[in-house]
Amino acid sequence: MALYEENELYLYNSLTRKKEKFEALNAPLVGMYVCGPTVYSDVHLGNCRTFISFDMVYRYLTHLGYKVRYVRNITDAGHLENDADEGEDKIGKKARLEELEPMEIVQRYTLGFREVMGKFNAIPPSIEPTATGHIIEQIETVKKIMEAGMAYEVNGSVYFDVEQYNTDNHYGKLSGRKIEELQSGTRELDGQSEKRNPLDFAIWKKASPAHIMRWNSPWGEGFPGWHLECSVMSTKYLGEQFDIHGGGMDLKFPHHECEIAQNKAANGDEAVRYWMHGNMLTLNGQRMSKSTGNTLNPGELFTGNTDKLTKGFAPSVVRFFMMQAHYASQFDFSNEALLAAEKGFNRLMEGWQKLQQLRSGGTSDFNVTQWKQACYAAMNDDFNTPILIAHLFEAVRFVNAADPNASGLSDVDLDSLQTSMHAFIFDVLGLEEANEQEGQHNKLDGVMELLIKLRKAARDDKNWALSDKIRDELDALGIQLKDGKDGTTYSIN
Ligand SMILES: [Zn+2]
Repeated sequence: MALYEENELYLYNSLTRKKEKFEALNAPLVGMYVCGPTVYSDVHLGNCRTFISFDMVYRYLTHLGYKVRYVRNITDAGHLENDADEGEDKIGKKARLEELEPMEIVQRYTLGFREVMGKFNAIPPSIEPTATGHIIEQIETVKKIMEAGMAYEVNGSVYFDVEQYNTDNHYGKLSGRKIEELQSGTRELDGQSEKRNPLDFAIWKKASPAHIMRWNSPWGEGFPGWHLECSVMSTKYLGEQFDIHGGGMDLKFPHHECEIAQNKAANGDEAVRYWMHGNMLTLNGQRMSKSTGNTLNPGELFTGNTDKLTKGFAPSVVRFFMMQAHYASQFDFSNEALLAAEKGFNRLMEGWQKLQQLRSGGTSDFNVTQWKQACYAAMNDDFNTPILIAHLFEAVRFVNAADPNASGLSDVDLDSLQTSMHAFIFDVLGLEEANEQEGQHNKLDGVMELLIKLRKAARDDKNWALSDKIRDELDALGIQLKDGKDGTTYSIN
């Protein structure tokens, strides 16, 4: 019997606002679509959290024995600066500013995104389709929506007719909005707009002469609306109905609302069975924002090369830190919390090391069967990783207290505890043991500590020549020393 047959998995469906029992449409197959990044800049740490959360979901479903087809798109065209179908294409704009071909921008940031996700040990999706690779399919879907009477063409652009759709459907049901409220919240059309209604959104947009990324269509040269690609590519690879659609909370409206409408108009069906949304990340209690400077990127996090942190953190520590919060709850990043997470991570890994050395025999009151059930119960309750981690630490406490030569567990229980700990730590949470590289990193830390001490001794002796020599030669190697109130730290460029 597959594990998924023994486990009742409940997940919070954002659409019904209830925890629902997960029933796959065609078990053991599961189709999961997650909205991927728009590749016009380095990936944001908040987005990393979303993708790491869905990586954990993917890993747990796989652990339960489902065969998951995980589709996560790359948005490489059509995402405009403004949700109201205005402004430049984000990628086109970056290409113009940097005097590059848009596909050079796409390549650069796609590779960067994959590299960061790889560091976080996120498994690549089964399919990673791009908007520009599916222009023909998108044009076909625009035609279908027009045939269904839910879209209209004006001057080379095609708009989704929200009011028409809303006569038999509820536009706004995912984000809990009513069309009347949405209408009163939008600007009146200024007479310049081609739209019949301010809520209508472009599914195909005519390209202005300055717009670089453009394709032929029955309505002239243009480009697809941003929301369309996800409807089209999820249908193409997962079918008109599929199990799970995920994304960040910020995509609920308008992006996912528009996806729901497009799928229904084009295929006549509700496409998604379970909508899941990951929550935001804050930094030192405040929204991350480039404009206020309250921001941290993954590179700075790993190197510690920022005034927000006293040191760098291994990707696995950061991942562990994120897993200490439920994916749907808000979560705050800070130097102190990361330092605490690092201690916890090390304690967990040391516990794992000791567990591998334990021998069976003797007596104990640690109930492995019950413990294992509690771990699954946590994960089956909407992927509650913080509770799972609490159970993993119960096992660590037992391991630390146990006699290594007679743990008190039977052969069967010891084997079960080792297998389950391995499965939850590495397969489900996706953590990695301190590897060779991190070992080297620790040695480097030791060497740097030594150099910092020697430099301090030189300065105490007023041997400025030596202290400057240490600083300058490290600098030439790309290692910067930072003198602060609490002593000297270093960062590597
Ligand atoms: Zn999407």
